[in-house]
Amino acid sequence: MNLKSLTIEELTQVLKDMGQPGFRAGQVYTWLHKGVRSYEEMTNLPKALRDQLAENYPIHPPQVVRKQESQRDGTIKYLWQLSDGNCVETVLMRYHYGNTVCISTEVGCRMGCAFCASTLGGLVRRLEPFEMLDQVLFTQVDSGLPVSHIVLMGIGEPLDNFDNVMRFLELVNSPKGMNISMRHISLSTCGLVPKIDELAKRKLQLTLSVSLHAPNDETRNKIMPVNKAYPSQELLDACRRYYAATSRRISFEYAMIDGVNDSEADAKELLRRLKGLPAHFNLIPLNHVEESPLKPSSKAAVARFQKTLEDGGVPATVRRTLGGDIDASCGQLRRKYTQEQK
Ligand code: SAH
Repeated sequence: MNLKSLTIEELTQVLKDMGQPGFRAGQVYTWLHKGVRSYEEMTNLPKALRDQLAENYPIHPPQVVRKQESQRDGTIKYLWQLSDGNCVETVLMRYHYGNTVCISTEVGCRMGCAFCASTLGGLVRRLEPFEMLDQVLFTQVDSGLPVSHIVLMGIGEPLDNFDNVMRFLELVNSPKGMNISMRHISLSTCGLVPKIDELAKRKLQLTLSVSLHAPNDETRNKIMPVNKAYPSQELLDACRRYYAATSRRISFEYAMIDGVNDSEADAKELLRRLKGLPAHFNLIPLNHVEESPLKPSSKAAVARFQKTLEDGGVPATVRRTLGGDIDASCGQLRRKYTQEQK
């Protein structure tokens, strides 16, 4: 068990069982959520307690195995090694509204999207709540840059690790911890319909991003195997239910792939199918992945697609590519590193 996966109430119980007074939990919680690397840093705790905690609950901070900083835009990409030797990536992006950390939720992924580097080696294991929190904490500590926004868009499918992700959100949102507002958090999913419904029940104020990437089943089946389990109509219906439950506009991600999903007819079909659903589109020019034959759309095709959506009343932004010089898209750095180790 790692103390950083516990809520403050649970931590209070652990410390109580160790014979500690009630106020200790707040102290320990705050230190842990500052990203200390050892109990020795908790200078307001008695030495005996620090030793006892270190013995029973080792902190196991992740180690930086690669760190790449973009010369163009200051984006920093970390490859962390976890205590069991597995690696995950985190990206720090510097936007005008605040520093944003993109975290991984699993080691690998089992969703099999045709364009994504994260899924090439399959799913190794799911991350524990503290391992997601650590990515935020240690990115902040290492970079010295305060983090205000989080996106769950790194390696893995967050809704395929539902309970741990929900707990992570509770931890990172807690006032005695990082206190990051739900409105500053985006969770991205490839479209696990029952889990979207479960998330809706929680009525969180986070932004739900849905990786749509295609206007219909014919195209979506070709690039996203998850569509065979949850076809696009079921997914869009779930998005409507999500909006009805939370009043939060859905953010759709759409990777623009040359000749696959980027025609004007595709944009028009999307408009028809999304009618009445408050939505926003993030158009992402495909990041080329070596192992894949898929190519990014031309600038002109992206611009035409954007205009068609906007003319149809659906706001669409073209995502600025950050960190293009440092393998910053999903799973590329981990992939490179694990292949070098073989
Ligand atoms: N599993 C989740 C979150 C992780 S991926 C999901 O599917 O949403 C984050 C986003 O990056 C998703 O929209 C994903 O489809 C997209 N993505 C993955 N590989 C990409 C690539 N090569 N180019 C552009 N976007 C990509």
